[in-house]
Amino acid sequence: MNRRLQQLSDTDQLTNISNRRSLDRYLKHTFQRAIVDGKSIALLLIDVDHFKPVNDTHGHQAGDDCLKEIAGRIQAHSRWPADMVARYGGEEFCVVLPDTDEQTAVMVAERVREGVEAKPIATRVGPLELTISLGVHAAVPAPEDTSEGFLERADQALYRSKQEGRNRVTLYSEHVLENG
Ligand code: GH3
Ligand code: MG
Ligand code: MG
Repeated sequence: MNRRLQQLSDTDQLTNISNRRSLDRYLKHTFQRAIVDGKSIALLLIDVDHFKPVNDTHGHQAGDDCLKEIAGRIQAHSRWPADMVARYGGEEFCVVLPDTDEQTAVMVAERVREGVEAKPIATRVGPLELTISLGVHAAVPAPEDTSEGFLERADQALYRSKQEGRNRVTLYSEHVLENG
């Protein structure tokens, strides 16, 4: 009973993946571990492209169908036991990849992106073609780093993916962001 309640309070009711609360807890824990172990941790921030028009044109329920399906595809493409896929907010998702370097994180992000683009999303109003934009940050955190800071960098990279035309993966790098 307790486990069932815990699971309910950690799960996003629409998409059936982890919710923000559960993400925050897991991220804090794995981030501290990464500092102690001196290992890289990677974050993917994901935002559905041009999602408002989907709701406006096809209705909220069709939009909800899309979020469920996209959540499932993100999860299907990040499948290591320690990876956590969570709904971060409205049409945004976050993936935590413990013990993962930049190169691997970008590979996973690209696989997730392709997984959404590959085939139309089945909804109650018929198939809809959707894409996602991703921001990636991966590094060995220093003791003074925070998980919030890592999320902020992934968000800056995501913003860049949007600016550069969407349906793409951007890896956070100070050089790229400063010169944009
Ligand atoms: P962009 O490519 O810049 O991200 O464009 P966008 O239209 O996706 O961006 P915007 O942030 O303007 O719109 C996000 C929309 O996501 C607004 C809202 O209609 C929709 N949305 C957020 N949460 C939910 C939800 O739980 N269900 C449904 N159906 N739609 C949602
Ligand atoms: Mg958004
Ligand atoms: Mg969006």
